[in-house]
Amino acid sequence: MPSGAVATRSTPVVVSVRPHRAEGRERVTADASRAMPKSGPLVDRYGRVHRDLRISITDRCNLRCVYCMPDEGMTFLAHDQLLSFNEIERIARVAHTLGVRSVRLTGGEPLVRRGVTDLVARLVAVGFTDVALTTNATRLAPMASSLKAAGLTRVNVSCDSLHPERFASIRRRGDLATVLEAMRVAESVGLAPLKLNVVLLRGDNDGEILDFARHARETGRIVRFIEFMPLDAQGQWDRGRLVPGREVFERINEVWPLEPVADPARLAPAERFAFADGRGEIGLISSVTEPFCGTCDRLRLTADGSIRNCLFSDDEYSLRDRLRDGASDDDVADVLRRAVWAKFPGHAINEPGFLRPRRSMSMIGG
Ligand code: SAM
Ligand code: SF4
Repeated sequence: MPSGAVATRSTPVVVSVRPHRAEGRERVTADASRAMPKSGPLVDRYGRVHRDLRISITDRCNLRCVYCMPDEGMTFLAHDQLLSFNEIERIARVAHTLGVRSVRLTGGEPLVRRGVTDLVARLVAVGFTDVALTTNATRLAPMASSLKAAGLTRVNVSCDSLHPERFASIRRRGDLATVLEAMRVAESVGLAPLKLNVVLLRGDNDGEILDFARHARETGRIVRFIEFMPLDAQGQWDRGRLVPGREVFERINEVWPLEPVADPARLAPAERFAFADGRGEIGLISSVTEPFCGTCDRLRLTADGSIRNCLFSDDEYSLRDRLRDGASDDDVADVLRRAVWAKFPGHAINEPGFLRPRRSMSMIGG
């Protein structure tokens, strides 16, 4: 089957396989497959138990952030290629029976898809302890109250600059004032503490590290500095544009001393630090320079219905066509188990031979 083709019942589940890994990495052998547990939680070959499902509900977006998409020329999935909310709920329900306890809606921009509030309510009814959302917040303000009422537990807002012109040059569409107002509204309806995601780009917004730290101190928002990852659709990532988390730590710590926040399990990707004077917290998501793969408990469902066990792996396990072909809950569970079991120990970005994944962040779901 050609790479990227869609699996049907008679074809293998893995729809996209290529030697994207550094040499020496092994795929699951028949022997290893036989060792896969058929019951209990979703565990991989390295003992990582998976409890977190990221659900992309659309690959579309109303912005064009420079580190994510080109200004023009993105092509998007047709509506019938997207999972319906019934299909998403079904997969989430099966994942819940296998021990998944938190879900996060993402995209693309999740709030451009109609009916998100209803989907949140349906996922809450499944029994997840945490139903969260990552958004660019351009449409959040008028929806915040109904999302909260539907049971949304947390919201992460992406905002890469506190200066209107720089915000516009990085995000290309939308405006800072709308996003700041949306954060205020979200907090006023109880979606707090809010996390604010900042992707740092050398030469663009790296001069704002202290401004964002001050923002965290003054607002109680948890500002998380994210390293630029090789997941932009244009393929223009380069290490020179990345600002290492260590540098962010040093620059802030010099002005406002930081203390690590005890987080023994470290399931969240962010390394957490509190200001020593007790005024707030920041996070560092150093996915490239200090990968957290060893404790990764995440699984992703793409908007077109494939399970991915890692942002940086091209292997996808198609569920959409299986569901539409009449797959049972046991079939879905089996695909989830196999996807987790096949997960590599790490993403290998820093190893020779690494190839960037074919699908970019907005297509996978960030
Ligand atoms: N549209 C929503 C938003 O921007 O928050 C949700 C989807 S977006 C893909 C999820 C997160 O991925 C955002 O915080 C965004 O800044 C981040 N992101 C996108 N492309 C990235 C890249 N190449 N490297 C690091 N983070 C990236
Ligand atoms: Fe859209 Fe989010 Fe990508 Fe920006 S990061 S282009 S808001 S999907």
